[in-house]
Amino acid sequence: MLTNDRLDAWDRAHFLHPSTHFAQFARGEAPNRIVTGGEGVYITDREGNRLLDAFAGLYCVNVGYGRTEIADAIARQAHELAYYHAYVGHGTEASITLAKMIVDRAPAGMCRVYFGLSGSDANETNIKLVWYYNNVRNKPEKKKIVSRWRGYHGSGLMTGSLTGLDLFHRKFDLPLAQVIHTEAPYYFRRADPAMSEEEFSAHCAQKLEELILAEGPDTVAAFIGEPALGTGGLVPPPAGYWAAIQEVLAKYDVLLIADEVVTGFGRLGSMFGSDHYGIRPDIITSAKGLTSAYAPLSASIVSEKVWKVLEEGTDSFGAFGHGWTYSAHPIGAAAGVANLKLLDELGLVENAASTGAYLKQKMAEAIGDHPHVGDVRGEGLLMAVELVADRETRTLFEPAQGVGAKVNAALLKRGVISRAMPQGDILGFAPPLCLTRAEADEIAGAMAGAVAEVL
Ligand code: PLP
Repeated sequence: MLTNDRLDAWDRAHFLHPSTHFAQFARGEAPNRIVTGGEGVYITDREGNRLLDAFAGLYCVNVGYGRTEIADAIARQAHELAYYHAYVGHGTEASITLAKMIVDRAPAGMCRVYFGLSGSDANETNIKLVWYYNNVRNKPEKKKIVSRWRGYHGSGLMTGSLTGLDLFHRKFDLPLAQVIHTEAPYYFRRADPAMSEEEFSAHCAQKLEELILAEGPDTVAAFIGEPALGTGGLVPPPAGYWAAIQEVLAKYDVLLIADEVVTGFGRLGSMFGSDHYGIRPDIITSAKGLTSAYAPLSASIVSEKVWKVLEEGTDSFGAFGHGWTYSAHPIGAAAGVANLKLLDELGLVENAASTGAYLKQKMAEAIGDHPHVGDVRGEGLLMAVELVADRETRTLFEPAQGVGAKVNAALLKRGVISRAMPQGDILGFAPPLCLTRAEADEIAGAMAGAVAEVL
């Protein structure tokens, strides 16, 4: 086995890590962690630490680590047939079964599944589906996509443009011209403190309508949004938000893409966030929880309404010219089938609802009254704690103070991994859906200690 010193040297000399300050990492100024194992909600590393992973990797290991049922399904598939492509009608028992299982679990009106590998590629597919849809309908000008500030939809060229976070645009010449952004449904950060949640939702819908009218309804094709904002701050929508938004979209013939990469398959305590909030999407993006990240796989889930136009389109213009070598990869599909079975057998969607409510209550009891805790919010097992310089005015700390990162580091010292979200001093918690109440107590207890230490 390689020594830790040698691995560290190779890591710093050769490995460009995603979303990392390259220069600091290469100089050894930023830490690395070499992860070696996982069981339930815990991971272990080469230094011998055992850490409670309260962010489930990147909110994706939904069934928890070390599930032999999924590992065995992957191994069986690899022995039988590690790969065959899915072009021009090819498939495997696993990919066909998984498509059926997804449609059975998806919100009403969804009927077809296009497989890819990641949330980003699924959103790229979805934009191509939308453009194709309007070309077939002979509306070639209707191509712009509305996204929200603080939305996260990936980091490709189109998906990085859809993402409404400066970090993902800066120095990349993004966003692309076809993407326009509208206000985030971030009630805690509303400009007018007197507004109720319903009034703020109506305000967001009005901003959307103004944007569509300013751009010209004939040029706006789709709206993309996460049922509850994820990477941009982990923010459940204010009351009435989705009903108000959908009314505007219907009025101007604008499709709705629900990006359920985080919320799909149970995280909010419902199988899909769309069901949770009464969203009726035209297309759903899913990835992460589909396989609990045991293998890379994404699914674009298509409604009857979009499917009818795709059918008409290929009848008129020929095959749909879009695909990846690894679309519907058999190993990913086998992992997905085993993962969705496990989700049902262990009742993990229900557990996300009940243990999520428990975690939120314990967190509020542990730190809710602290003068620098502005907001403890969440739905199911998607939670955030927002830290503020002043609780009354909701004033932010100076970014240079790095308060969120410091609390995150203090939590790590106590054996708990959370995520310091990229914008603002927001600590994110999205543990595996198998979290127990005792583990929730461990997270809340560590947070109480960390906040007391730093603030
Ligand atoms: N959409 C949402 C809502 C996400 O949170 C993410 C990733 O975190 C993506 C898309 C992109 O997924 P991936 O990182 O698998 O490309």
